[in-house]
Amino acid sequence: MLLKQIKDNTDTLVDEIMSRFTKEDLNTITWRNFIRRTRPYEVKFTKVLKGLFRQQEKEVLTNMRKHPHPNREAQIDTYMEVLKQNWLSDWLFAEMMWRKRFSNAGKPFIGGVLEDVGQAELTNLIIGIDFDITNPLVVEFINKNADKFSFATNEATIDQLRKHLIAGVKLGEGMPDLTKRVNKVFGFAEKYRATRIARTEIIRAANSGAEFAYIQSGVVKGKEWLTSFDERTCEIGCKELNGRKTGLGKSFGKQGVSADLGYTGGEIPYPPLHVSCRCSLTAILIE
Ligand SMILES: [Zn+2]
Repeated sequence: MLLKQIKDNTDTLVDEIMSRFTKEDLNTITWRNFIRRTRPYEVKFTKVLKGLFRQQEKEVLTNMRKHPHPNREAQIDTYMEVLKQNWLSDWLFAEMMWRKRFSNAGKPFIGGVLEDVGQAELTNLIIGIDFDITNPLVVEFINKNADKFSFATNEATIDQLRKHLIAGVKLGEGMPDLTKRVNKVFGFAEKYRATRIARTEIIRAANSGAEFAYIQSGVVKGKEWLTSFDERTCEIGCKELNGRKTGLGKSFGKQGVSADLGYTGGEIPYPPLHVSCRCSLTAILIE
């Protein structure tokens, strides 16, 4: 009897407290919880990426020392001639091996945050169900995204190295200056790219985890875009999307949120919309 009374009183109290919150307040709480959950993954993944970039840099510098400098023997004055030389491929890191390494390094973070957010969302929606990380669609997402991010990351690094080293060789620079160029490419990667890549991939995996949880719960019919409350990261495009609703497995569309915002096209099933986007989702329940 007493227990029931306490429970009833607590329920009334909870209802009363909840009624004082506006939808905006609740969204802020939801978003803050999302960031609290994803942030540790971002930080650790950034650190791992920095470490990988450092090792890659070492490999390139070792390759450069091992293989002779083309400018010593001949004056190379046209772009095409520079391209014909083997020196560049001798200097670059072993791409296939590094693709595997980045992908393997990313998987625990992508899978980890996906499961963490997925389980939290599911617990929030319905009691007593465990998030199914072995679901084939979930496994496919993790593998595909690890490969995709790894491919894009290594392509970008190779593009930058190629551009800077060819420019240096064309200018007749010696090893000290060419080394500085390599330092610059990897310095930029460590200082800026690592953070951006980690944040983008973690937010993508976390939101896909939320959507997988909505599907697994059986009590959700759709999803709503919840724009980041962090002014520094999400501005124009995401503000437009705030509150937009769509069905599970559906896209938020691409209208009005295209290339000028750094988004390169394709469907947008969940955030991120752009690099460093920290938006999240909320569930629309079946009535
Ligand atoms: Zn955003």
